[in-house]
Amino acid sequence: MDTNYNYEEEMAKLKAAASLSPEELAKKLEEAQRLALETMARMTPEERLRAEEEAQRIIREDEQKRKALLESAQQVLGKRTPGFCPYCGTPNSGGNFCSNCGGALNVN
Ligand SMILES: [Zn+2]
Repeated sequence: MDTNYNYEEEMAKLKAAASLSPEELAKKLEEAQRLALETMARMTPEERLRAEEEAQRIIREDEQKRKALLESAQQVLGKRTPGFCPYCGTPNSGGNFCSNCGGALNVN
């Protein structure tokens, strides 16, 4: 485990990098990218699984929020047009479906 981050050493490296040629800089960047990939590869299967589950949980929660929003919007719209079919505008005769087009009438 390499946890002792030496600030002055890193600054010296940055200063040295500033005097590098573009080719040398590109090589340094490639090296940094390779190190990052190696760190990912070193993750245990458990760690990777947890990261994946966390991502899926966030996606699921987002879907639930969207569904709840849609449902409440439908309820509001249904209350605003209680006497008329929202699809064709035919007055509602009291049933759950439009007598003209057969569309579902949300009148709860
Ligand atoms: Zn209708």
